[in-house]
Amino acid sequence: MDAIVASLGHPSEVAALLRFKFSGSGKVMYKAKRSLPPKDDSAAYTRAMCYYYLNRTSRSFARVIQELDDELRDPVCIFYLVLRGLDTIEDDMTLPVDKKLPLLRSFHELTTKSGWTFDENGPDEADRELLVNYDVVIDQLLRLKPGYRKTIVDIARRMGAGMADFVAGKQVITLEDFDLYTHYVAGLVGIGLTGLFIESGLENKALADSMPIANDMGLFLQKVNILKDFLGDVRDGRLYWPKAIWKLYVSEGEGVDALAKPENLPNAVACLNHLCANALTLVPKCLDYLSLLRNKSVLGFAAIPQLMAIATIDLFYNNPMLFRKSGNKIRRGLAVKMIERATDFESIKQVYFDYAMSISHKSRKALGTNPADKSFGDIAEACANIVRWIQIHDKKQGLPIRKASSTISTQIVLFFVVLAVAVIVAASQ
Ligand code: MG
Repeated sequence: MDAIVASLGHPSEVAALLRFKFSGSGKVMYKAKRSLPPKDDSAAYTRAMCYYYLNRTSRSFARVIQELDDELRDPVCIFYLVLRGLDTIEDDMTLPVDKKLPLLRSFHELTTKSGWTFDENGPDEADRELLVNYDVVIDQLLRLKPGYRKTIVDIARRMGAGMADFVAGKQVITLEDFDLYTHYVAGLVGIGLTGLFIESGLENKALADSMPIANDMGLFLQKVNILKDFLGDVRDGRLYWPKAIWKLYVSEGEGVDALAKPENLPNAVACLNHLCANALTLVPKCLDYLSLLRNKSVLGFAAIPQLMAIATIDLFYNNPMLFRKSGNKIRRGLAVKMIERATDFESIKQVYFDYAMSISHKSRKALGTNPADKSFGDIAEACANIVRWIQIHDKKQGLPIRKASSTISTQIVLFFVVLAVAVIVAASQ
């Protein structure tokens, strides 16, 4: 209901929310605790528990995983939970480093050790319960086909080792460090999922040659993700903005937390825009990757988070709100619209096209309003590269020249505004 209220000014989002709610009731398994089978040591029980935890840890993503073809659904669900377990250890600032490092480095072994659980996370850790009952994930992992299991364990090993390096003191200073950290925590997810897609037979074996762009898919998501909670991440000492960028916007000797000071807001926004420009350069690579996918459920699954991420950049770019409150994200109505539009590649291209136009329009409007901001040229270039990618692809497909599709919804909104004014005027007479 909150989501509908938030989308009231956007009729197409309200419609999408309602369609989403009423079309998907049969697709989400084991959402409520009472729908779980009685506890025993059967595969049916541990599988139900895995879906229960999946539903608890992520909302729209849980649904998207459950809409995958049968062959891929369980492997992707288990992969997600294994990585969520690893991330819960990485993120927990109450765990002492000498405890955390061996856990991260051996998680790939623990995750195949029947019966292993972990109850030493801090009480506030959101997914604490997943690790307390982690034996159900292990049970399901061990039941997967060896090919799936090998991929999941291999990614957990590489990710855990990479996370440990950063926990042990490696810092995100240069852009290379930034790309390395985001490779460990997100690029490897893209690489691992690509392995699962191929293993399932739903995607072509040749996709294995595209691991560098599978990595870029993850990098883009992570580079957007690290923008949304600047205040919370600074407070908890886990901000992963590269120093090479933020130090351009603070005074000599100051830390990144200086960007949270109200008097530094123009600099903070300039830094944010710089990071948006850096992330946007990855989008043509993501389009390259998505254009290779052949299976409809795989394409939707891979594209949905990407579309939400570019919608998120459109919201965050030049937005001072990010330095005033925590947990910024797109409206759920908009997220659901992205889910609906990720059905085929042509519709996906249109979403990218619309956002590239919108972001470049915003940057033109902002030009000259903030002397600290030097990113206009980079934003314009990144958006132009996205549009160019789409135009070249359109041309190969023999498609006509593309127009932004937002004009139609603008007309709908205008229609409602005019209608509302007419009603108010009529009522007052
Ligand atoms: Mg983390």
